[in-house]
Amino acid sequence: MKILVPVKRVVDYNIRVRVKADGTGVETNGLKMSMNPFDEIAVEEAVRLKEKGVATEVVVVSIGEPKAQDTLRTAMAMGADRGILLTTDNSPEPLAVAKLLKEIVARETPDLVILGKQAIDDDMNATGQMLAGLLGWPQGTFASKLEQIDGRLQVSREIDGGTETVSLALPAIITADLRLNEPRYASLPNIMKAKKKPLETMEAASLGVDIAPRLTVVSVAEPAERKAGITVGSVAELVEKLRNEAKVI
Ligand code: AMP
Repeated sequence: MKILVPVKRVVDYNIRVRVKADGTGVETNGLKMSMNPFDEIAVEEAVRLKEKGVATEVVVVSIGEPKAQDTLRTAMAMGADRGILLTTDNSPEPLAVAKLLKEIVARETPDLVILGKQAIDDDMNATGQMLAGLLGWPQGTFASKLEQIDGRLQVSREIDGGTETVSLALPAIITADLRLNEPRYASLPNIMKAKKKPLETMEAASLGVDIAPRLTVVSVAEPAERKAGITVGSVAELVEKLRNEAKVI
């Protein structure tokens, strides 16, 4: 089984992002960038499938500015075999990413594509679903457990009020949720080894796909500041405030 894992370079999840003064987006200059956390989980799952002997090769792909090669190297240090970087001038929307990934799928013919469930920068939660739609492949989104049973993939997905289990024929699309696994840290020797793994770079434009944006960002604003809370002295005071101030009971 060959697995393709798309990984996105995003502002590190520990960084508090600030809206640009002109309200056109968030400031990213000079900020620490890392692999999207859900993509780390996707890479981890693919590497585990390889370690179990289920997968034979794990290929990672990133679309974005040339610096995304650092993200690919991190994925290779975690255990991916090789990387593909598609360079673009700006960050493409999910539909454009899905169309580019469709081209990579045609070239690489993976049996399984594992994406993150969402990129934490713009929280689109759309690329995996769009890729499944474009390819006509079955999809197991928000996966919290994966098992290969009789040549099919059994996927547990967390849904409201419980867990749903779906069985998919390959080739298929999976999107990784938080509980799927706990990603490993890359060890120093593996970081060194990853530097020698193959990384192919090409311009996204060379794939002949229309990646023009379909959305216009009207404005980006900070959320309204929340008022500080207070500590009440007793349950009676809490009930009184809920009844007379908040008027919720
Ligand atoms: P999104 O639909 O933007 O929330 O992203 C969902 C998933 O699609 C991410 O977790 C990645 O696996 C993949 N993805 C999105 N954008 C990119 C990108 N520019 N390069 C590689 N993978 C991406």
